[in-house]
Amino acid sequence: MTPILTTAAGRSTRDLNDVIAEGNRFLPDRMTVIDNGDGPTILVCGGIHGDEYEPQVVLRRLAREIDPGTVTGRLIIIPSINFPGSQKGSRLSTIDDANMNRTFPGDADGTATQRLSKFLSDELFPLCDLLIDLHAGGTEYTVVPLIFGFTNPRCAVSENQLEGLMEGWGTRFIQYIDSVPSTAVGCALAQNLASIETEGGSGGALDAAELDELHDALMRGLAKVGVIRSTIAASTVEPIRVRVGQENQNPAPRDGIVQHVVALGEFVRRGALLALLHPVSDGDGECLQIRSNVDGYVLRLNANAFVKAGALISNTGSLMN
Ligand SMILES: [Zn+2]
Repeated sequence: MTPILTTAAGRSTRDLNDVIAEGNRFLPDRMTVIDNGDGPTILVCGGIHGDEYEPQVVLRRLAREIDPGTVTGRLIIIPSINFPGSQKGSRLSTIDDANMNRTFPGDADGTATQRLSKFLSDELFPLCDLLIDLHAGGTEYTVVPLIFGFTNPRCAVSENQLEGLMEGWGTRFIQYIDSVPSTAVGCALAQNLASIETEGGSGGALDAAELDELHDALMRGLAKVGVIRSTIAASTVEPIRVRVGQENQNPAPRDGIVQHVVALGEFVRRGALLALLHPVSDGDGECLQIRSNVDGYVLRLNANAFVKAGALISNTGSLMN
């Protein structure tokens, strides 16, 4: 395998096609390393779900625009880590149909997606002080701007520092959930690498204001963690802290056609009507009422009319005490 990182100051790139190898060539999709002097090493990834395009657009811009002279440490930018998905408009890899964010820590002798995961967990995570994994709603969902993160006492970023980073990011919500080991951030935690994951936007289309918000939030976060100097103003958003568990998930009990009756970000009470699930045929019975199990804010809505049984119609976040 070719060397991944140059040690020279400045900017270097590597085509990620080299990681998946053997006949599955796609258009170039590059990792950019901007390296200048002493400071932390921060890895920022987008597109682990290929159809979540806001982070990919913003990270390509950053990879071009960030002046190495403003970097203090090493910034590793991967706009489209699951490029076999993103180059084809797909959430999943189009080589092996894998959901990349359930393939960690990966396998160097496995499928293309498992190799990409292994490349992150084996070759990049050990170099880093913080992983920033950027998501969006993609074609299936619209999501409120939210952030969450993980650390442990062996990570370079303390719990207090992580809370401060999330607090200053500029998202309306900070989410608290259990980590899942097969995700990028869950795998990072197992390797004592602190992480941040963000969500927001989509529903199949880009919104210019959301792109600008993501750009500014990321620049603020990178400045706060000490890897760049930035003149972006501090956020004035007072984030709302929410806990998301199983009781906050609202899956479709059967195939159906969704009519939401709540809006993203709205606060709903336990028992409140969230959506009507219309039958897809005359043989399907009545229209079902989907009601909330808990008091909470609506964080995520399915953006498509048709949903399959078991797919998420919406979820909520319950206020932290
Ligand atoms: Zn995602």
